[in-house]
Order: sequence, then C-alpha cells, then structure tokens
Amino acid sequence: LPTIILVGRPNVGKSALFNRLIRRREALVYNTPGDHVTRDIREGVAKLGDLRFRVLDSAGLETAATSGSILARTVDMTGNVLVRSQFAIFLIDVRDGLQPLDLEVGQWLRKHASGIHTIVAMNKSESLDEHGVLTSAAGEAHRLGFGDPVAISAETGLGMAELYETLRPLFEEYMFQLPNNGLNQDDPTSEAEASEGDESKLPLQLAIVGRPNVGKSTLLNALLQEQRVLVGPESGLTRDSIRAKFQFDNRTVYLVDTAGWMERAGKEKGPSSLSVVQSRKNLMRAHIVALVLDAEKIAKSKNSVDHQEVMIARQAIEEGRGLVVVVNKMDLLRENQRLLEKVMDAVPKEIQTVIPQVTGIPVVFVSAMEGRGRVAVMHHVIETYEKWCFRLSTSRLNRWLRKVMSRHSWKDSATQPKVKYFTQVKARPPTFVTFMSGKTELSDTDIRFLTRSLKEDFDIGGIPIRILQRSIP
Ligand code: GDP
Repeated sequence: LPTIILVGRPNVGKSALFNRLIRRREALVYNTPGDHVTRDIREGVAKLGDLRFRVLDSAGLETAATSGSILARTVDMTGNVLVRSQFAIFLIDVRDGLQPLDLEVGQWLRKHASGIHTIVAMNKSESLDEHGVLTSAAGEAHRLGFGDPVAISAETGLGMAELYETLRPLFEEYMFQLPNNGLNQDDPTSEAEASEGDESKLPLQLAIVGRPNVGKSTLLNALLQEQRVLVGPESGLTRDSIRAKFQFDNRTVYLVDTAGWMERAGKEKGPSSLSVVQSRKNLMRAHIVALVLDAEKIAKSKNSVDHQEVMIARQAIEEGRGLVVVVNKMDLLRENQRLLEKVMDAVPKEIQTVIPQVTGIPVVFVSAMEGRGRVAVMHHVIETYEKWCFRLSTSRLNRWLRKVMSRHSWKDSATQPKVKYFTQVKARPPTFVTFMSGKTELSDTDIRFLTRSLKEDFDIGGIPIRILQRSIP
C-alpha cells in the first residue's frame, strides 16, 4: 500500500485528519525507539473513496519530545518513518495564516523528504465562509512551495472529495510504476517454489473475461498503460498462452489468455458468442478472474447478469478461482442518479443470488475508458489473491476449531459428530480436511457453518474455500 505521512506543527489537526481517514478502523500504535524518549506513531489503513493507503500520524512525536525546536524533533522521524512514506500531507491551520513554524516544517520537508510528494492541506477551512478569504489563504499557502493547496476540514469532512481528486492521479502513477523486486521475475507457472515463504507474493495470473464489447480491451489498456510488456508465445505453448504483464504495487501481474479473447472478440459479432467451453479451459490458468459487465446494458435490462455471465462466474468459483466482478462504463450513467443507484444495488445482490455458496464477492464499478477505478480493480484483485493464498497452521486451526465447535448449536448432542483433527492441506484456494472419528459425518449444515466461521474469523470471505471429510477408525 502507498503510505502517507501527516506532518505539520502542533495543533493543526493531524490527529483529527488521521481519525477521519481511518474512520473506525483500528489504529496500530508502535514505538519508535529514540535516544531519550519513546515516541508513538499512529498507523492505520485509510480509505478515501476507492483509494486505500497506509497513513502515519506524526503527532505523537511532538508530545513525546521533551525539548528542542520542531526541527530537531521532526528530524527524528527520518530514520523510521520518512523512509516508509511516499506521500506527505502537510497540514496548516488556515485560521492562523502561515506561521514561522509552518515555514520551518516546509524547509525541513524540502531538505529531508525531497523524494516524497507533498500536498499542502489548509485545515479548518469550514471556518472560512467567504470565498475571497479562502483564495487569499490559498495564495499564501502557495508560498510554501508545494503547489496548489487543498482546503479541507478534518472536523467536518469538507474537502475530502478534493483531497481524493488530488491523490488519485498520484497514487495511480505510483502504484503502476513500482520497480521489480526480484521475486517478480519468477515464472508464475513454477509454483513449486511457493511452498516456502509467502505464496501471496508470487506473481498472480489474472484473466479478464466477459462478453464482447463490455470493455475488456479498454480495461486491459488502462491497466497496462505505457508500460506494456508483451510476452511472446513460449515454446511448447499454444498461441493462447500469450501473456501481457505489468507491475502493480510491487507485484508482477500476468494477464492470461489475452490474445485468445482479443482475437475472438475481434471475430465475434453480437452478444451470443462468449464461448463457455473455451472459457473454462482458460479459467484454469488464471488465479483470479475479473468478470467484466456492461453498466449500460445492466441499466436497460431486467437482470444484471445474463445467463452466460452467470455461467462464467459460477465456473470460476467451481474451479476454485478467485472472482472479482467489474462493472464497466459507469460514466454512461453519470447523468442518471436513479439508474446509477439501481446498478450499484442490483449487481452485488444478483451475484450473491447466483453464487450463494460464496458471500462477499467483490464488485467494483469503473469506467475503463476514463481510466477510473483501475486502482480499485487491482486492489480487489490483490486482496482476493491474498485471501486465496491464505494458509493457517494446523495447531492454530485446531485451537480455533475447538472454540468454534463449542459455539455451534448441535441439534442432538448425542449424534454430535466428532472432529478429531482439522488441517489445511493446501492454499490457492484454501482447502481443509476434517478427520472424523468412526462413522460420524458432518452434515451440509455443519460444513456450511464451518466454512462461514472460517471466512468470518480469518477474514477470507469472497473466495471459494473447500472442506473435505475423511474418517479415521
Ligand atoms: P471488449 O470487446 O470487451 O474488449 O470491449 P472494448 O474494450 O473493445 O470496448 C468496446 C466498446 O466500449 C468500445 O467502443 C469502447 O470505447 C467502449 N468502452 C469501453 N470501456 C468503456 C467505458 O468505461 N465507458 C464507455 N462509455 N465506453 C467504454
């Protein structure tokens, strides 16, 4: 995740902004060991629109420090905190105007954080009702030398949309341009190496599927942008295996079957030709399947997902793939709030109806043409992938099982099946085996209960997981 640090002199509202950004999410407080004092930096995962990022609140540094100028105190941040941040939000208090301390912080940022993109936020703007006052404050804030300031109010939430608009293009640029970290060079097909270390760091294979003209090529281009690297057909593989690859958040993502569907889409006329047989074969090669739907078509029709699309979605889940639903062409509904809401409401519901066994399949609303939502698509793809790679040790799993079984209400305690042992036999997708004693067997209800509890307790909803049964004498 990209990381933003909140900086500014005391009392400009850093903590208020921090709290607003992370909402009710849990903040993690960690200690930065210093020479004389222990400083707390609050850290949390923030959400702003469809942007997710890590946010660090440097406020704790000031209160913990006992002496020295703000410069001396903030310099302490360099080691641990600044290196982790790619962006800074530099808060000033718009009611006070620029203070000498603000200028000091500005100088310090230029000196120690030159690689960090800094945005000036004029906080407490809710108090300035006159437009003219705000404009002159903005002119003054310009003097800090960090470009156009954004007027916000951490207290009331004013200006969050503008902050979003400022951050979005910066994030996109950042997320799509991370360098390789070596690991990414691995061939994704050699999954044998996955057994050591974190499997979710392996390159992921993404298939973009959907009917012709829903915008798959457009989405693909938005994802690849200028950094397109087309991988040629490998020896021994068919032309269908041509892959495109790109970087996102320090990972390599391979787009599988790109040539295959592009070619088919070119030949095909009309909406009826999405080949289900063909797609099943291709789904097997993908880790995550992004099913693209057309928002305009959904707005006009009764069902949001048609028969063929349902087939594809079901197949993906049945084949144990992760699924992300992408509703494209949202720009066409911008003028019509009622249709917009209808689509945003209908699609998740219908996906849930047609795939009742998996709750919480992510649905993302985008405009591939405008390049909007591609970061959100990739966040969901990666989140789904990480869940798909989830692995739990047998000891933890059994401790969990004992607890969860006591929570479960058995219809008849005399026939309560005895699970001797529970283990995860593989990840990608997570697959578990219950070892039952004697002839007892878990009912479908029990299996559903276990599945649901696993998903809830370990936050692995939205993906297929499997539970198998074995009996031991
Ligand atoms: P594919 O067959 O699924 O690959 O679809 P294309 O990417 O070729 O797109 C089909 C048509 O839809 C083209 O005319 C695109 O310009 C248009 N299109 C794609 N994405 C969007 C979008 O987000 N908004 C709008 N308005 N049109 C789009």
